[in-house]
Amino acid sequence: MSNKLIFIMIDGLRYDTAVSQMGYLHHLIEKGKASRFKVKSELPSLSRPLYEVLLTGTPAYINGITTNQTVRLSHEESLFHLTKKHGLKNATASYYWVSELYNSAPFNPVTDRIQLDQSKAIERGIFYWEDHYPDTHLFADANFLLDSYEPDFLYVHSMNIDDDGHKFTADSKEYRNRAITVDNILATVLPKWMEAGYQIIVTADHGMNDDGQHGGTTTADRDVPLFIISDRLAPGIYEEEIPQLQIAPLACELLAIQPSAAMQPLMIPNLKVASSL
Ligand SMILES: [Zn+2]
Repeated sequence: MSNKLIFIMIDGLRYDTAVSQMGYLHHLIEKGKASRFKVKSELPSLSRPLYEVLLTGTPAYINGITTNQTVRLSHEESLFHLTKKHGLKNATASYYWVSELYNSAPFNPVTDRIQLDQSKAIERGIFYWEDHYPDTHLFADANFLLDSYEPDFLYVHSMNIDDDGHKFTADSKEYRNRAITVDNILATVLPKWMEAGYQIIVTADHGMNDDGQHGGTTTADRDVPLFIISDRLAPGIYEEEIPQLQIAPLACELLAIQPSAAMQPLMIPNLKVASSL
């Protein structure tokens, strides 16, 4: 494996649903190709604040992205800024709020869907703005970026699970079936992406409750999965609960770059650090 990283962020995927519905990812665990942790999300358990948490490793009271309506560029050093600073190539296929945090705000759908300006923090981005933009198309967008630009860091952000959670609640066949659908998409793209030598992490921003919402403090709101496909970590199911502020420094470690000064020291058990390789 290389030090290249694909970071897959599945919006609104709660932990127990991932554990019970995602057969392909658990096949990888059973066959010694992946590991799984439980992550406790930061608060508030809302999308835009947690995008900033995942991509900068800083909590909302520090970074100031405290609501979904906080529409401005981030003031923090994100994984996009850090990869660029270290001479690595980055790309993303994401919801438009990611563009608003790191490239330009507010988002203009007419001009901002495809962004290839390498002077920006996100060097290559394909963005969508409808929550029902099909995950099948989103992962195809990501695959296009991978094939065309061979980025060192590729961030892939899907939305259909969150969308169905709001429409039908987490306790619905629609929400559970959407998780199976995303697992199927992963079963389509991951074999190729693994073959290409990428380190891969799959996680979520927040969960979903049985009222079809998130934002609170329950395990339904906060507990999300973390799957890691990496030769740097022994495969299997880990019982340790990982704080969400650990995800950004984990990404830096897998990319073998220095984390930002604002990030926590990394504390993922059994992870072989780059300096010891
Ligand atoms: Zn949501």
